[in-house]
Amino acid sequence: MPEGAAMDAKKTEREGGRSKFQVLPSVCALDCPDACALKLTVDQGRVVKLEGDPAHPITRGFACVKMVHYPSRQEHPDRLLRPMKRQGPKGAGKFLPIDWEEALTIIADRTRTILAEHGPQTILPYCYAGTMGLTEGSHALTLFRALGTLELDQTICATTGSAGWEANYGPDKLGPALEDLVHARFIILWGINLVRSHSHAIPFLKEAKRRGAYVLHIDPYRNETSRLADEHWPIQVGTDAALALAFGREILARGWNDESYLQQHALGLEEYRREVEAWTLPRAARVCGLDELRLRSAIEAYARTASRFIRLGNEGGGNAVRAISLLPALTGAWKDRGGGALLSTSGAFQLARTFLGGRHLRRPQRRHVNMNCLASELLRAEEPIRGLFVFNSNPAAVAPDSSRVRRGLAREDLFTVVLEHFQTDTADYADILLPATTFLEHPDLYTAYGHYYLQWAEAVVKPRGEARSNTQIFADLGRRLGVTEPTLAWTAQEVAQALLDSQHPWLAGITWERLRRERFVRLALPDNFRPYAEGSHFPDRKVRFAPAPRQLVFEEAPTPEYPLRLISPPGAFVLNTTLGNIAPLLKAAGGQPQVIIHPQDAAAVALPASGMVRLNSRYGSIVRQAVVSDQTIAGVVIAVGQWWPKLAPDRKSLNDLTSERLTDLGGGSTFGNVVVRIEPVPWSGNSEAETSPFP
Ligand code: SF4
Repeated sequence: MPEGAAMDAKKTEREGGRSKFQVLPSVCALDCPDACALKLTVDQGRVVKLEGDPAHPITRGFACVKMVHYPSRQEHPDRLLRPMKRQGPKGAGKFLPIDWEEALTIIADRTRTILAEHGPQTILPYCYAGTMGLTEGSHALTLFRALGTLELDQTICATTGSAGWEANYGPDKLGPALEDLVHARFIILWGINLVRSHSHAIPFLKEAKRRGAYVLHIDPYRNETSRLADEHWPIQVGTDAALALAFGREILARGWNDESYLQQHALGLEEYRREVEAWTLPRAARVCGLDELRLRSAIEAYARTASRFIRLGNEGGGNAVRAISLLPALTGAWKDRGGGALLSTSGAFQLARTFLGGRHLRRPQRRHVNMNCLASELLRAEEPIRGLFVFNSNPAAVAPDSSRVRRGLAREDLFTVVLEHFQTDTADYADILLPATTFLEHPDLYTAYGHYYLQWAEAVVKPRGEARSNTQIFADLGRRLGVTEPTLAWTAQEVAQALLDSQHPWLAGITWERLRRERFVRLALPDNFRPYAEGSHFPDRKVRFAPAPRQLVFEEAPTPEYPLRLISPPGAFVLNTTLGNIAPLLKAAGGQPQVIIHPQDAAAVALPASGMVRLNSRYGSIVRQAVVSDQTIAGVVIAVGQWWPKLAPDRKSLNDLTSERLTDLGGGSTFGNVVVRIEPVPWSGNSEAETSPFP
């Protein structure tokens, strides 16, 4: 039995015969590929410490700097502890506590009225990855599918990369196991800050380096990962496809392609060959802002080193993901242990998802709402949304075109229910605000997208105050609405058991009882897992080189009016808005949201080394603290992490600057496709009497 299981309910310290604290296992529920196994120290019902579980082969005893502060979030004095009803105008954030009976009665009555007067296609559940637990995340949608409401397309993050990957390799995203990374000898980290976005890959990367691997980091932003790499290429934003196509051209021109792999498994190679022809090294170097000689020698090193691995991020659009992830097929890298590429491991979790979140109740005639277009959906005149249920998400902060999202949320005729831990910016617009449990207060099943371990976690503490889980709240509401769908009332155990009732060989031998006992179990994958060594996962096993990926022209190009690009990679202390009100993290992140501006761009507008700056885009304007640094390249402004708007100096979201425009593939968000203008704002921040810099 792993150490993790032995920790369950184990009293680790006793004083005078009385238990002082317990160390209990859990799983990190954040939207992060690492899905860490955790150890929680609980003292008399309060969580006092969070650590990584040393027994988990990927977590290895390490929890990231963000999550070690989770106990202060769990026990935070601002936690929502009771249901509340709005008092005053929407957005003002004024509420009156009520009891659960009254809250659920109000919600059921209003929902019944909307259903009767306008039909289910005017109700929208809005949720994303506030928890990665399958019960409190995915299964919480059951009520809405049983009612026949609008169907939410959860496209804000990963769908673009998924669509690109799956266009090449067929259904499901796979890659070499992280443990096999140590065998790679040429590693490219492409558009990802691995230290922040997949930190548990770092020990394997370091071991690979110790064994002689060369590491190249490709990213417009010089960051912690660049320092770890042997070489950093500060690529121009959005030119990744061009670079990958230049790799392809050079590899084919020099005969470094794996002819036997391509003969067996490639489809459409001739079309690909024609497309890459235009991407000569001089042209790619010019477009990507890179050194041609370095490009030439790195491509040769990549193509000719045995065991080549690419870890790619979701940046750059679907065509970029397609172009990059074709390189291992071109060179036959999939055949080597630790070779190939990794976008996500999620495709290996072949659970029986038929009943998850009421999937069996979906109907083709129901209208889909792309979550990136929430602003327009809330403001549409025809068949407007009348009922909005928000859980596991904070759209007032994270949805594009925030000022229009806020306008939509402020509609008096919109009935909004928000399930939350804290009074976020979205919660300020709720008619009824409900206290939800945290992942430490309910059991759940967890997959991962950075490793191949399936995990089960029990609750480690009782819910604080009157908090209830999403599934409990929706099951109660369903009963009041007369919904008889049996899966709506499933417990987390029942959800897990249904999911594990899979005939797929990778799930062989994994039962809920075993997971409960062992906490984490590796999928039954073969040793030396090489998912595409024998071709793609399309029925014909061919890798699709056609239609050939292309370097698209950005829809928003810099202009004299908006000369700079804006991107927003995750930060060390602030990532999404989940931990957005934890004081030590905010302090460590600089105390307020910051943007990094290249010295050349700062000089062009006479911006002092650290002053306030206004950023204007076609969609809005925000004020942030400027940090002038050559960490970024000229022409690119970096906003690190996503802050709660109400904690920003102007109470606005970074997404006031972004648009609802969708990506080339997968209907994803285009947060990196924004052009802005900057201007200094006089502001010392010392005196409230000072003239406000905010319009
Ligand atoms: S690295 Fe990721 S999974 Fe691990 S504790 Fe941090 S946020 Fe959670």
